[in-house]
Amino acid sequence: MATAKTAKTQLAVLGGGPGGYAAAFAAADRGLDVTLIDPAPNPGGVCLYRGCIPSKALLHAAHTVREAADAEAYGLSFAKPTVDLDRLRAWKATIIDTLTGDLGKQVTQKKVTHLRGLGRFVDAGTLSVTAGAGETRLSFEHAIVATGSVPVRLPGQPDDPRIMDSTGALDLTDLPGSLLVVGGGYIGLELGSVYAALGTPVTIVEMTGGLLPGVDRDLVSVLQRKLKRDLAEIRLNTKVAAMTPGAKGVDVTLSGKEGDESRHFDRVLVAVGRRPAARDLGLEAVGVELDARGFIPVDAQRRTAAQGIYAIGDVAGEPMLAHKATHEAWTAVEAITGDKAAAFAPKAIPAVVFTDPEIAWCGLTETAAREAGIKVKTAKLPWRASGRALTLNRDEGLTKLLVDPDTDRVLGVGLAGPGAGELIAEGVLAVEMAARVEDLRESIHAHPTLSELLGEAADRLYTPPKA
Ligand code: NAD
Repeated sequence: MATAKTAKTQLAVLGGGPGGYAAAFAAADRGLDVTLIDPAPNPGGVCLYRGCIPSKALLHAAHTVREAADAEAYGLSFAKPTVDLDRLRAWKATIIDTLTGDLGKQVTQKKVTHLRGLGRFVDAGTLSVTAGAGETRLSFEHAIVATGSVPVRLPGQPDDPRIMDSTGALDLTDLPGSLLVVGGGYIGLELGSVYAALGTPVTIVEMTGGLLPGVDRDLVSVLQRKLKRDLAEIRLNTKVAAMTPGAKGVDVTLSGKEGDESRHFDRVLVAVGRRPAARDLGLEAVGVELDARGFIPVDAQRRTAAQGIYAIGDVAGEPMLAHKATHEAWTAVEAITGDKAAAFAPKAIPAVVFTDPEIAWCGLTETAAREAGIKVKTAKLPWRASGRALTLNRDEGLTKLLVDPDTDRVLGVGLAGPGAGELIAEGVLAVEMAARVEDLRESIHAHPTLSELLGEAADRLYTPPKA
């Protein structure tokens, strides 16, 4: 075997996703000598190459198909769309190339060294980075682990190209005659919606009693009503007991409350969660033990148990969201560059399910308030009352505001409806800036917009002084 090359750096960042590249760039901006380790030609990670971005491109296409069909209701009829999958895939690829290419340019501009390969700790000051047969021994002063997460497989899941994870589903090689989606979470609902809009009958099976477990039920039911129309079938309290790939598809045994049922699908998407990618990093060599769920335990500054080694993003705990990783990256870099007060302590991490309608929430949810016994005052405004919602022919939405009954401080916002993912930004600002009901009420919302509903919700909760 060839002898390993050697290199040294002040900060080694393992993983080039929204956590890793944000950390590398922030550290380089502060004058550190940074090496970013990732096998891909440019940074981007799962989010840009195989996750957030390609799925949103396809969801936009799906949305366009549905908008055209729904316009029938107000007198606009379009022919059934023809879907040119090659052009759709090419458009998606262009977006990914543009974004990852821009990140590659920033690597050069900020003088970050991009070491292509997979990294593994040898000891608390050295990483072994391998690419094919080549190895680099990289010594570092500080390291940030930002290796993300990987899809969970079902027990005994056969290896067959027709049984896909999110990466396979995003490739969109063709439109199957039928699709089974296992898991009614973020990925199952987003990608299931894409295939359904493009013409594939989609069945979703969800193990628990409801879609999107843990999310407030009144928000989910807005989406569920729509999905019942868009999808072939939604089966709750149902698991997949067996899957057998055959000549023409996959034979599946669905196991529900009424017993087992044999079904056949052309294709299956398994979307039953993701697990942290922490197993093959040599963490045992630096004395870092994973927690019961496989995450790397970290403190408020994102320090691990090993001196000088930090962990951020999906590998360091829930929620597994790109924007959380980016903010943790900044905290870790601030800590590394000597800011003793640096801490990752957000009041509101927004979550968005990019279905149609979208669901979004931030801060305290009603479910969490109930479980923790926290008293809240709540205003719920159905979008039926919104002029803007009616002009969009989308009156099914819901805006929800949660406030502290003693101080009137805004604790949480929940939204269901088209554009909820954009509208939630105001909620994040309100919760993070400790806004009170009167702050939201007195902030003038443009008319007619969907954002007005949050101002109106604040007005409902406002107690005027007695005359
Ligand atoms: P998820 O945790 O959102 O949903 C998994 C679902 O599968 C759950 O509802 C669970 O009850 C169900 N399930 C588990 N085992 C099952 C089984 N054997 N049979 C049937 N159902 C089963 O996970 P996901 O959809 O795979 O997404 C993974 C993570 O990726 C998410 O938690 C999220 O953090 C992230 N993500 C975020 C976005 C976004 O921000 N819009 C989009 C996609 C993914």
